[in-house]
Amino acid sequence: MGSEGAAFSKSRGEDERVSDCLFCKIVSKEIDAEILHESSEVLAFQDINPAAPTHVLVIPKRHIGSALDLGPDDGDLLVDLFETMTSMAKTAGLDNGHRLVTNVGSDGGQTVDHLRFHVLGGRSLSWPPG
Ligand code: 5GP
Ligand code: ZN
Repeated sequence: MGSEGAAFSKSRGEDERVSDCLFCKIVSKEIDAEILHESSEVLAFQDINPAAPTHVLVIPKRHIGSALDLGPDDGDLLVDLFETMTSMAKTAGLDNGHRLVTNVGSDGGQTVDHLRFHVLGGRSLSWPPG
């Protein structure tokens, strides 16, 4: 696990919410977002800078720094996250397919230190990514 910042240093078993974490502030409604789905564990909202016609972020409401911080007790949460991603793709009508992405660390392109899955679709997406 990274130790570069306060948000990276928190994980399961520590604070549920990290005060300087952007996505924790979206969960607590301190920062506005266009919310598409909310359950007890998961939030889905529109990305502020969409990279495709559909670009939804699906996050755990509890602060988890990245995929590196997931553990054996997170199975139910992962099912909830993936079911939400499927629901978002179906609701957006992404019948030709879509892409699920989670960026990890600086080389992975992670810019917000809170686990998130990107649901991208609505156009043909190239591979490999840049
Ligand atoms: P990452 O780059 O860490 O994988 O994903 C972070 C994503 O959060 C980016 O796609 C970025 O556009 C999005 N983002 C950053 N700030 C905000 C914000 O204030 N509101 C919303 N809705 N999305 C944001
Ligand atoms: Zn957070």
